[in-house]
Amino acid sequence: MSKKKIIQNTLDSIIKHHGAPMYVFFILAFLYIAVSIIIRVTSGSHETISIGSSQIPIAAFAGVLSSLSNICLILLTLFFGKWGFYTALITILIQFPVIISVIIMHHNLNNLPGVFGNLLTLVTIIIIYFNNKELDAYQVRVRDQAVTDRLTGLPNRFACSELIEELTKNDERFAVVSIDINGFKSINSSMGFEAGNEVLIEIASRWKAIADTGISGTLDFITRTSGDEFVLIIRNYHSDEDIINTIRQYEAALKNRLTIDNCDFYITASFGYSEYPVDAGRGDSVFAYADAALHEVKRANSGDHILRFTPDLLKIERTIEIEGKIREALEKDTIFFNLQPQFDMDHKLRGFEALARMKDENGENINPGEFIPVAEKVGLIDKVDSAVFRKATSFFGELLEKTGADLTLSINASVRHLMKNSFIDEVRELLESSGISPDKLEIEITESIMIDSADKALKCISELQKMGVKLAIDDFGTGYSSLSYLNSFPANMLKIDKSFIDKMNSTDSSRQYVAAIISIGHIMGFEVISEGVEEDAQLTTLRTIGCDYIQGFLWGRPLSQQEAEELVMQFAGK
Ligand code: C2E
Ligand code: MG
Ligand code: MG
Repeated sequence: MSKKKIIQNTLDSIIKHHGAPMYVFFILAFLYIAVSIIIRVTSGSHETISIGSSQIPIAAFAGVLSSLSNICLILLTLFFGKWGFYTALITILIQFPVIISVIIMHHNLNNLPGVFGNLLTLVTIIIIYFNNKELDAYQVRVRDQAVTDRLTGLPNRFACSELIEELTKNDERFAVVSIDINGFKSINSSMGFEAGNEVLIEIASRWKAIADTGISGTLDFITRTSGDEFVLIIRNYHSDEDIINTIRQYEAALKNRLTIDNCDFYITASFGYSEYPVDAGRGDSVFAYADAALHEVKRANSGDHILRFTPDLLKIERTIEIEGKIREALEKDTIFFNLQPQFDMDHKLRGFEALARMKDENGENINPGEFIPVAEKVGLIDKVDSAVFRKATSFFGELLEKTGADLTLSINASVRHLMKNSFIDEVRELLESSGISPDKLEIEITESIMIDSADKALKCISELQKMGVKLAIDDFGTGYSSLSYLNSFPANMLKIDKSFIDKMNSTDSSRQYVAAIISIGHIMGFEVISEGVEEDAQLTTLRTIGCDYIQGFLWGRPLSQQEAEELVMQFAGK
C-alpha cells in the first residue's frame, strides 16, 4: 500500500458521503421506462375515457406523463451526483434524434412540446449537476478540516470517535490505545510552546509513517486527541501479543532523539489499552477503559510503559478520585454531618447519631458507603472523624443550651482515630469547648477494635469511661463477635446491625437470634438499640422481644442541622 494510504483510506471511509440508497436509483429508472412506454402506447390512441360527464382523449395525458418522466431524470441527478447526471443526460440525448426524426418523417408536430420539455430538463439537470459539484467539493473540504488536527495533520478526536462508532456498529474487533507523552508539560514550560509544538509534530510524523506503511503488521489508525494525548486504534490482529508488538513499535519510534532548535529531546510515552468487545462492549467504555489503564501506568511510574485494562483499575481510579475529593474537603473544611434520630420504644427522642457527609464539586452528596471505606483505606478516616467530632459537638452543645433538651449525641470513631495517642485529649477538649456533659456523649466503635488491638483499645476505652463518656458497640454481630471479649468490654450500648433487623421477621430462628442478642446484651448490663428499622412489623417484633431503642428510616432519616433542631423543638413541645 502506498504511503498516506491507510490513514487516508480509513478517513475517507468514515467520512464518506452517504447518498440515497441504490434501490431508489432503480425505482426512478424503472418509473422512467414505464412512463415512456405508456406515453408511446397512448400518444397515437384516439380513444377517450370518461371522467364525470366529460370525455377526455387518452392522448391528452401524454403531456402529464412526459413531465413525470422528466421529473424522474431530475431526481436521478439530484440524488446520485455524477452517475445520476450521466444516466439522465444520455437518456435525453438519445431521445432527441428519435423525436426529431418522427417530426421530420411524419410531419407530426404533436411531439414538438416534448422536445421543448426535454430541452428544459437538460438545462435543469446541467444546472443541478454543476451546482451540486461545487457544494460537494466544499463539503469535502469542510469534512476534511473537521476530522484533521491542524497542528500535526493527523486525524483528530472526532475522527477517532467516528471510527470507533463505525467499528462497533460492524462489531469488528479492535484495540484502543490511549497514549500520553511523558513529561511533556516540562518541555512546554522550559522550552516554550513553539518547541513543544515542534516535538508534537515530529512525534506525529514518526507515528504516521508506521501507521501508513503498515509495517507494524496490524491495521493502525493514529490520531491526536488533545495536547500531548494521542489515541491509536489497532485492527486486524490475532492475539494480545500482536497488539503489544504494535504498541512497542510506536514506543520504539521515539527512541531516536529529537533535535529541535539545536536541543536534543529524549521522549518516552505511556500506553494504556483496552479491547473491544473483550474488555468493553461499548465504544465509549473502550475509550474510558484505555484511559484508566493509561492513568495507572502514569501513577505506577514503573519501567514498563504499556498496560492493558483490567476491571480492578476502575476501582483504583475511583478510589484515587474519591481520595482527592476527601483531601480537598478536609483542606477546605467542607466535611459536614447529618443527624439521625434515635428513639425509645415509646417514640421518645433519645438523641442523634452524627453521620459524616461530603459533597462533590456539583453539590451532589457523595455516598458515605463509598467515601468512608476509601477514607479508611487511605488513612484519612481519623481526620474525617475529627471534623465530624468538632462540628457535631459544637452544634449539639449549642442545641442543648438553646432548647434545654436532655439528649445524647452519638459519634463514630474509627480504629485509626481511637488508637491515636491524642484521642483522649481531643475528646476532653471538645467536651470542654462545647459544654456537653460527658454522659451525653456516646462514642460508637466497632467490634474490630477489640480484635485488632485489644490492649490499647481497652486502655483507651476505660479512660473514656473514667471521664464519664458512654460507649456503644456499633454494627454488632457483623464482626467476630465473641462473648468473652464482650464480657470484658466496658460498653454501655449494643447496636444491632441492620442486616439482622432486615431478616428478623423472615424466619422464626432469625427473630430468636435477635431476641438472644438483646437478652445477652441485657445480661451483660448493656442497653440495646436496633439499627435500620424501616417497617412497622419490625418495630412490633422489637417491642415484644424487649429492645430498648430504635434508629431507622421508620421514625427518622438522617437530618440536616436545621431539621434536627426543628425535631427537638417539636418533641420539647409535645
Ligand atoms: P453506622 O454507624 O452503622 O450508621 C448507620 C448507617 O445506616 C447510616 O448510613 C444510616 O444512614 C443508615 N441507616 C440508618 N437507618 C437506616 C434505615 O432504616 N435504612 C437504611 N437503608 N439505612 C439506614 P451512612 O450514613 O451511609 O453511614 C454508613 C456508615 O459510615 C456508618 O454506619 C458508619 O459506620 C460510617 N460513618 C458515618 N459517619 C462516620 C464518621 O464520622 N466516622 C466514621 N469513622 N465512620 C462514619
Ligand atoms: Mg454508627
Ligand atoms: Mg451501625
